[in-house]
Amino acid sequence: MATLAEILAARTAEAAPELVEQISGDRLRCYACGHECPIPDGAVGVCKVRFNHHGQLRVPWGYVGGIQCDPVEKKPFFHAHPGALAFSFGMLGCDLHCSYCQNWVTSQALRDPQAVAQPLDVTPDALVEEAVRLNARVVVSTYNEPLITSEWAVEIFKRAKPAGLLTAYVSNGNGTARVLDYVRPWIDLYKIDLKSFDDKHYRQLGGRLEPILATIRALHGMGVWLELVTLLIHGFNDSREEIERLTSFVASVSPDIPWHVTAFHKDYRMNDPENTTPEMLMGAAAIGQRNGLRYVYAGNLPGRVGDLENTRCHNCRSMLVERYGYFIRDYRLTADGTCPGCGTGIPGRWGREFEGQVTALPFVPGTRRLRVI
Ligand code: SF4
Repeated sequence: MATLAEILAARTAEAAPELVEQISGDRLRCYACGHECPIPDGAVGVCKVRFNHHGQLRVPWGYVGGIQCDPVEKKPFFHAHPGALAFSFGMLGCDLHCSYCQNWVTSQALRDPQAVAQPLDVTPDALVEEAVRLNARVVVSTYNEPLITSEWAVEIFKRAKPAGLLTAYVSNGNGTARVLDYVRPWIDLYKIDLKSFDDKHYRQLGGRLEPILATIRALHGMGVWLELVTLLIHGFNDSREEIERLTSFVASVSPDIPWHVTAFHKDYRMNDPENTTPEMLMGAAAIGQRNGLRYVYAGNLPGRVGDLENTRCHNCRSMLVERYGYFIRDYRLTADGTCPGCGTGIPGRWGREFEGQVTALPFVPGTRRLRVI
C-alpha cells in the first residue's frame, strides 16, 4: 500500500519560478516560506511536501485535505464583511510543528502517524463553483500552512476573483519577500498567528520570530487587509512583559490592525497548561489597548469576555458590530464603512450593507457535489 508521502508525491506540479532558485548543480533553494530550505536532489524541505526531483522543485497540486464552510468571524476576520461565508480549503503539511495545533490532522499529516488525512482530488474550477453555489463571499486557504502550498492557492484565487469572491490566507506568517510578492496580486485578506514575541519560543515551534514580524510589516505596507491572532497559553506566551512587547510592536506597525487574543484549550500534544480563563484574556487585552491598539478582541470564550467580542468606533465608542461568538447580533456601520455616530472611517473591508449571515456555525459541504477528479 502506498504511503501518504507517496500519495502526495503523485499530486505535485513544478514550483513557480518566483519561488525557487538553483543554488548549484541539482541543489535548489525554496522561497515559499521563511525557512528558505536548500534542497539537494532527492530530498524534501522542512515542510516535507516540497521536494527536489532531479533538479526540479515539485510542489503540492490538485487536491484538498479538507473543505469547510465557516463564518468569516471564525478565521477570524472581524473587519471584513461581517456575517459572510468563508469557503475554506486546505492541503496537507506545515513548516512548523506546534504541539498545541488545532488543525493537526491536516498540518502534521506527514510528521505524525496518528494524524491521518487523505487527499481529495479536485480542480480549482470545481472549488470555486461550489463556493459560489454556497453563497460564499470569501475563499480561504487554511487548515495547513498556505504559504507552503501557494502555487495551488494562487491557481484557485485566479478563478475566484473573477467570480466576485474575496480571497484570504490564514497563516503562521513565516513568509519571505518573494512569496509575498507572488501572492500579493491575488490576495485580499490575511490573518497571521503571532504566536509569541520571544524568538526562543518560536524555535520550540520550529520557526523564528523575525520572518513573522517582517511578514506583518510587509503585508501592511502592501495594503493587504491584515488581522493578527495570539492564542494565549499560560506559561508559554502570557507574561506581562511579553504581551507588552508584542502589542507595542503591532501598534508600531499600525494601531488599526485588529488583534485577537484567544483562549487556549488543551489539544494535540499540549496538555499541561490550564485552559485560558476569561480574566487572562481580558488582562492581555487591556495591555494591548493601553499600548494604543484600537481594535482588540477576545476569542474562544463567547459571552464571557464583556465587550471584547464587539467592534466599537475608536473615536466615539459607538457600537458598530455586536457579536456573540461568531454570531452577528447587530450591524450599524454606514454604507461607506464609517461610524454612524461621529463619521469616523473604520479600517477594514466592509460591504455596502450587512447582507445577513449565512451561518454562525461551521459546516462541511457535501463533497459529492464537487466535481471530484
Ligand atoms: S515551503 Fe518552507 S519548509 Fe517547505 S521546502 Fe520551501 S522553504 Fe522549506
